[in-house]
Amino acid sequence: MAVSGKAQKKKNLNFARLTVFWVMMFLIGLALISLFMPNQNLETVPISDVVRRANAGEVEKLEIRGNEVIVTLRGEEYPTEMARRDSSASIFDQGLELDAPVEITVSEPSNTGEIIGNVAIFALPTLIIIGFFVFMMRQAQGQNSQAMSFGKSKAKLYGADKKKVLFTDIAGNENAKQDLNEVVDFLKHPKKYEQLGARIPSGVLLVGNPGTGKTMMARAVAGEAGVPFFSISGSEFVEMFAGVGASRVRDLFQKAKKNAPSIIFIDEIDAVARKRESRGGGGREEHEQTLNQILVEMDGFENETGVIVMAATNRLDMLDPALLRPGRFDRHIKVTLPERVDRLEILKVHFKKKPADSSVDLEAMAAKTAGSSGADLANIANEAAIIAARGNRKTITNDDLVEAFEKVAIGPERKSKVMSDHEKELTAYHEAGHAVVGHVLPDSDPVHKVTIIPRGHTGGVTWFIPPEDRSYKSIYEFKDVLARAMGGRQAEKMKYGEGGVTTGAGSDLRIATDTARAMVVEEGMSVNLKDQVFHRDDEGFFAGIAKPFSEKTQEEIDKEVAGLIKEAVVRAEKILTANKKFVDALAKELLAKETLEEEEVKKVLTGTVLPKDVKLHD
Ligand code: ADP
Repeated sequence: MAVSGKAQKKKNLNFARLTVFWVMMFLIGLALISLFMPNQNLETVPISDVVRRANAGEVEKLEIRGNEVIVTLRGEEYPTEMARRDSSASIFDQGLELDAPVEITVSEPSNTGEIIGNVAIFALPTLIIIGFFVFMMRQAQGQNSQAMSFGKSKAKLYGADKKKVLFTDIAGNENAKQDLNEVVDFLKHPKKYEQLGARIPSGVLLVGNPGTGKTMMARAVAGEAGVPFFSISGSEFVEMFAGVGASRVRDLFQKAKKNAPSIIFIDEIDAVARKRESRGGGGREEHEQTLNQILVEMDGFENETGVIVMAATNRLDMLDPALLRPGRFDRHIKVTLPERVDRLEILKVHFKKKPADSSVDLEAMAAKTAGSSGADLANIANEAAIIAARGNRKTITNDDLVEAFEKVAIGPERKSKVMSDHEKELTAYHEAGHAVVGHVLPDSDPVHKVTIIPRGHTGGVTWFIPPEDRSYKSIYEFKDVLARAMGGRQAEKMKYGEGGVTTGAGSDLRIATDTARAMVVEEGMSVNLKDQVFHRDDEGFFAGIAKPFSEKTQEEIDKEVAGLIKEAVVRAEKILTANKKFVDALAKELLAKETLEEEEVKKVLTGTVLPKDVKLHD
C-alpha cells in the first residue's frame, strides 16, 4: 500500500508539472504571436509623408483601419509602415490631396493583437510569480515531510512483489541452511513450539565474511516461510542527530510487528552495536541509545509476536556482549567462505541462465578461486557474460571466463598505459624476481601467471595460486611468502645495482610488512615472542585505552618484524644470485611475450636450484 500511495503522489506531481509547463508554453506562444502581429512592429511615419510618397508613386496599397493607415510600399509584399490620422477626419479631409494610382481599402479596426499582447504581458509575469510560489511551497512541504519522516526507519520491505529467494538458490553452506530450516519452521508453525512451552528464538546472528551470502540466507528464510522481510543496514540507523537511531529502531519494530509473522534483517549490525569500550570517538551517545533501543525491543518480544530479528556481521568479537545474551541474539550461524565443491555449485547457479559453450570449465575455475566469496564468483560469472557480449559472441567461452576471473582478481589490463623500454625491462626483472623466488621455494604456492602488462594499480603481476584449499598455514609458508614478496626488489638490485631501485616495489613491501606483523602479533610466529599473541580485535579504536602489552614489548614486536623482513631479503637475494641465468631468461621471455602462463614459466625455470642455506626444513 505504501508503494502505491507513493506512486500516486508522484503521478499527481508529474501531472501538475505538465500542466504548468503547457500553460507557460501557451502564454509564451501568445506573446510571440502578438509580437509578430501586423501593426505591432510597423514603423510609424507622418501622414503627410505617406501622401507625398503616394503621389510620387512609391506606394502600392493603403489600408485604412480606423484611424491607422497601413502602408505597403511598391515592390513590398507586406506593409512596412503605418501612419496615424486625426481620428475625426478621413485621410482625404486632412487637406492633402491624393491623386496617385494607389489601391485603398478600408477595414474595421482590429485590436485582437493588442488584446493578446496585453493578456500575455500581464498574465505571463503573474503566472511566473504564482509558479514560483507553488514551487517554493512544494519545496517547503518536501522538507517538512522529510523532517517528519526523519525518525522513520528506512527499512526496505521485500514482500510478495519482489522475487522470492529460496534455499535452493543458495549453493553450498549446508550447515547454515540446516540451522536456518529450524527458524523457518518456527515461523511456519509457531503453535507447535508454543504448546510445548518452547521459547521461540528472537534473534539469529549470521556471522561471516562479506559476500558469503548472509543477506541471501536471511531472505531465503523469509522466502521459505512466506513472510515479509524488512531489511535495513546498521549504518542507516545512525544520523547526525541524537535520538534518531532509537526512533528508527522503534519504527522498524512496529512495522514488523504489524506485519507479523515477519523477519527483520539488520545488515552490518556492528555499525551500531560495537562493544561499548571500543566505540570511542563521536556519536557514542547515539550508538548507545540505538543499541539500547534494539535491546529493549527484543526484550519486549512476547512469544506470540512472531517477529524474528536476523542480523549479519563479520566480526562477532566486536559486538557488544549485551546483544548476545539469551533471549537476544543467542543463535549464531556461521556462514563460511565456500570450499571447492561449493564454489563449483555457486558458479553453476550463476551460469544457469547464461549461455555457455562446451569449452567453459567451471571445475577448473572452482579450483582456482580459493578464498573467493559467493559474491566474487557471482561477479566473475557476470563479467564473463559482459566480456562475451562485448566481443559480440552469442555464448560465453572459457577464455571469457578466465579473463573475467583475472579482471575480478587483479584488475583489468591497462594496455593503453605507455611504458618506456627501460620501465618495461625493469618490470620484467621485477616480476621475474618474484617468480623465480616463488618457484624455487618449496612452501610457496606455484606460479600461476606472470605478466608485465599493467593491471589494476600495478605495473606487472606475478600470480601465485594455491593448488588446493587450505585451512591452516605453516610458518614455512609465511616465510616463503615474505621471501617471494622481496624477490621483486632484489632482482631490480641485482640487475641495476643499489641505485637502480625504484618505487615499483611499494605494494610488495606493504604486503610483506603486514604479513610479518601478522606473524608476530597474531600468530605467535616470532623468535623471542614465540607462542604469544598481542592481537587486539578492536585495534584502531583505542580511544584512550591502554594497549594490552608494555612499551618494551612493543619495541620487541617492532624488532621481530624487522628481523623477519631482513631474513626474507637475504633468502630472496641468495636464491636470485644462485639462479641468475634463470632470472635473465625469464625477464627476456617476458619482454618478448608480455604474459606467461604456468606451463611456460615452468619450462623456462626448469633447472633452478634451491641454495642449502635458504632451506628452512627437510
Ligand atoms: P553478504 O550479505 O554476506 O555480504 P550477499 O547475500 O549480499 O552477501 O551476497 C552477495 C551476492 O553473492 C548474492 O546476491 C549472490 O549473487 C552471491 N552469492 C553469495 N553466496 C552465494 C551462494 N552461496 N550461492 C549463490 N550465490 C551466492
